[in-house]
Amino acid sequence: MSGMNYRIMHSNLDQMIADSAAESASSERVIMNSQLFNHFETSKTQYDYFKYHNMEDIYDWSDRMAELDGVEKKVIGKSWEDRDLFVLIVGDKSGMKNPHKMFVDCGIHAREWVSHAFCQYLVGQLVDDSSKFGFMRTGVEWHIMPVVNPDGYEFTHTNDRFWRKNRNPNTDPATRASQIESGAYMSGCGEYRGIGVDLNRNYDAMWRLGDPMVGASKWCTDDSYQGASAFSEPETKAHSEYILSVMPEAYLTMHSYAEVILFPYTYAIDAPRPHNYLVYEISEENRCVLILETVYRSVDHKH
Ligand SMILES: [Zn+2]
Repeated sequence: MSGMNYRIMHSNLDQMIADSAAESASSERVIMNSQLFNHFETSKTQYDYFKYHNMEDIYDWSDRMAELDGVEKKVIGKSWEDRDLFVLIVGDKSGMKNPHKMFVDCGIHAREWVSHAFCQYLVGQLVDDSSKFGFMRTGVEWHIMPVVNPDGYEFTHTNDRFWRKNRNPNTDPATRASQIESGAYMSGCGEYRGIGVDLNRNYDAMWRLGDPMVGASKWCTDDSYQGASAFSEPETKAHSEYILSVMPEAYLTMHSYAEVILFPYTYAIDAPRPHNYLVYEISEENRCVLILETVYRSVDHKH
């Protein structure tokens, strides 16, 4: 288009994806790891935190983490394809009677691989005695769910690197009834793009049939499909029930689309309260003012 400004962000995206999925660590990266992160080299905690692992690796890693002192693994439900949904609880080290509870989750969007990697890295740092982040276990009990959407994540490794949703086939009677009622009935449900629900559009927060919230879709073929009803998906149901059972004082969910900090809620473009206070706190500590300004200039992105 004439007059349109653009810049090339990746000259060869296909190659970049192939490189990121490479199975073995390069010798250059191993050297970097051993220089900067040699505290991972103990036998129980050894794990390559600079590689994107598949679900089999992650389940194996989570079992090994659960053998460490003060770490517990809880299976909180099953995905559509019967994979375990799990949380790792990394306990407070100070012996405080009622430690603060922090909940962190990753990977609700299958293709946002660095999110899953972040949760694994966070656990790795918390459990390692020589980590400079060990202080974060003082007075805090961490509840970390590294993979909210295991079926979708596995699918990004085996079939489609850019898959976002879960793997609900969307062919059950409830989905069909919901599609008809919302005026979004179409034959594409159950076929390639008509599979899956965008899990973070499926919570019972401003969920509406027919007239969906900003950024959600009633069409099953869309990447932001909201599902047949609020909490129709086993992943969101298990996730929300667990959070409600823990009642954490702080909650962080990691995504990798856009360099932004979002805080509740993003179904509308109005600033949430206490917006000014939060902006002040974040900007004082981390100088994120420019990032936050970006959030409010671009409310139409999918995160
Ligand atoms: Zn996301």
